[in-house]
Amino acid sequence: MAEKRDQWLGRRRMHLRLRFLQGESTGSYVTRLAARNNRPTEEVLWSMGTGPVPVDPQYTEMYVSRYARERLATLAGHTVAEMQERLIGLRDEFLMDKDAKDDWEWPWDTRAGYIVQACSLCAARRGTRSPAWLILPDPWQVCLRHRRWTDNSRSTDPPYVDLSELAEVVRAQQRLNRVRKRLGPAGRWVFADACSVLVRSGYLEDPAQTKQWGVLAAQLGEQRVRPLAQLSRLSLLT
Ligand SMILES: [Zn+2]
Repeated sequence: MAEKRDQWLGRRRMHLRLRFLQGESTGSYVTRLAARNNRPTEEVLWSMGTGPVPVDPQYTEMYVSRYARERLATLAGHTVAEMQERLIGLRDEFLMDKDAKDDWEWPWDTRAGYIVQACSLCAARRGTRSPAWLILPDPWQVCLRHRRWTDNSRSTDPPYVDLSELAEVVRAQQRLNRVRKRLGPAGRWVFADACSVLVRSGYLEDPAQTKQWGVLAAQLGEQRVRPLAQLSRLSLLT
């Protein structure tokens, strides 16, 4: 639909630039860029080409065409190479089909990774006060600096679990980070293996039924608590 694009739009950078957040989703970045410049997200999108109305980035990732990626880079005041390096969703393998009729889409499922809310204290350190969303290889994130757990429940109620009383989760994440640093991507498989061993041996059976996790499960729902409980059990393994 190139004929519908306004070729004059998206050729100048927006007034205020945005600091990158490690692992941020494209949808979250575009939404924050608009907010930072006090513009509606729709308006920023229209400067990038043609496509559907925006979706809240907590629900899905946004994928773009090559054309829209170039426009977004210009609007943000960066090169395409810089944008690709900082926003995973803008990498070549995630670009939309050349024959797609739109310049962006918000499919329900991400094409890779999970949408997880960024630690709001870390985001604040980078100058953002609105919620930001990441694309991560795991469906959760532990912020070791602020002792917070966020997940891909896509719920902001509550936005995070305070880990100050859950030292074993923090320990497990520190251990996991060490394994991953040593083994690289293979470290992820080691963790998956350890979990499946625990599940098979009945060790992880229904953590929400246990006394320790029952209270939290009543607040957050069993589904949100399960990975938290699983990770905490890993701290017992050596
Ligand atoms: Zn943090």
